[in-house]
Amino acid sequence: MKQYKYQLDENQMPTQWYNILADMKSPPPPYRHPATLEIMTPDDLAPVFPAALIEQEVSSERWIDIPEEVQDVLRMWRPAPLYRAHRWEKALDTPAKIYYKWEGVSPAGSHKPNTAIAQAYYAKQEGLEGFATETGAGQWGSALSLANQLFGLKTKVFMVAISYQQKPYRRIMMETWGGEVVPSPSSETHAGRAILEQDPDSPGSLGIAISEALEYAMTHDGYKYSLGSVVNFVLMHQTVIGLEAIKQMEMAGDYPDIVIGCAGGGSNAAGLIYPFMKDRLTGEKPDLRAIFVESTACPSMTRGAYAYDWGDTAKTGPVAKMHTVGHAFIPAPVHAGGLRYHGIAPTISALLESEDGEARAYHQLEVFEAAETFTNSEGIIVAPETLHAVRAAYDEALRCKETGESQVILFNASGHGHFDLSAYDAYRRESLRDYRLEEERLAEALSSLPQIKE
Ligand SMILES: *Cc1c(COP(=O)(O)O)cnc(C)c1O
Repeated sequence: MKQYKYQLDENQMPTQWYNILADMKSPPPPYRHPATLEIMTPDDLAPVFPAALIEQEVSSERWIDIPEEVQDVLRMWRPAPLYRAHRWEKALDTPAKIYYKWEGVSPAGSHKPNTAIAQAYYAKQEGLEGFATETGAGQWGSALSLANQLFGLKTKVFMVAISYQQKPYRRIMMETWGGEVVPSPSSETHAGRAILEQDPDSPGSLGIAISEALEYAMTHDGYKYSLGSVVNFVLMHQTVIGLEAIKQMEMAGDYPDIVIGCAGGGSNAAGLIYPFMKDRLTGEKPDLRAIFVESTACPSMTRGAYAYDWGDTAKTGPVAKMHTVGHAFIPAPVHAGGLRYHGIAPTISALLESEDGEARAYHQLEVFEAAETFTNSEGIIVAPETLHAVRAAYDEALRCKETGESQVILFNASGHGHFDLSAYDAYRRESLRDYRLEEERLAEALSSLPQIKE
């Protein structure tokens, strides 16, 4: 009998997060202050993030305990299942073995609650009243609203105006979980009002929304700012994905040759990949391949610079050394909204530099092409972001078919696409198109990076 799912008992869920900084030979350099560009201290970050999270951000401890209360909430849907894609393997006629970790089982439908829950817990511990944050299409805002609701905290979400108008369902989810959602730019902040004065019909951007959320957090007592990707502590909270997957792969009697994740800011990819990357960094599995997959519309890893850059368009957030297409870059409106961040997690950047990981980029048409074979054999309709990982797994499986190798491929299925069905519709109606990113536009966006001597 074929086994399709590998499921852990609730008591097998990880009780510690894995911190990759402990095993990196060349970890990323410290953040710089957005205004002075001097090295940022934990004190500089104190008005922005809860203290416990700042401590995690700079920690080099290999293992950090997951508080009981956080484990208790995660157990509402974790451990998440690991699937063997028997039917997809057959459809692709590949000798490769394909596995995927399914994170779409959380109430918000993606991996994002894994860190939202932890952040809400520490905010509650610190006695905060709530978090302010930004959201694009709403995946992060809905995950944080859920988490805050469970811990009795308030959520203020600045949602990019154009998405607020065009994508009501995630706004309704946020409001259902008690979030207060305003379209950004809003008249509630200086940053928002300044934009509205110039352009009353501004569609907004993630950069503007971040500036508004930061300003709101700094000017409202009891509020701090919450971030859903990129920084070390977020990636670390996501390692529950890979730590579970290691045990599940053991149950299946396999170890991956290739681990794959799609990467916007990099949190779900790191969440699956880092616990396996540990084996590569410590020399146990020197041949493990890790593939980070991005969108050609926002190609920070494959065409960007490895340089210091601001984390947000308005230059109010920390400056980090990372692969970036420039904080002022505005990507084409591809359906994979979660892959439209201009930078990538600094630890992923450092792993790419040390050649411990690989990066690749896909256009949206080719990811939907692979989606057809995946969805028709596995049944699950994944998010457009996730489809980038699906496409990479597809290409590796077809390479194995050519070479006759029976390699083991594992990818992260980061979330479901139930609120992204219009993208599937566009593909089926042949109205989906690719965008070419001209070299000149990229060069222009890269011309405004801060000048920092190391
Ligand atoms: C937000 C999101 C992503 C991209 O964010 P990362 O931080 O790179 O993981 C990918 N997939 C889904 C389903 C998302 O919601």
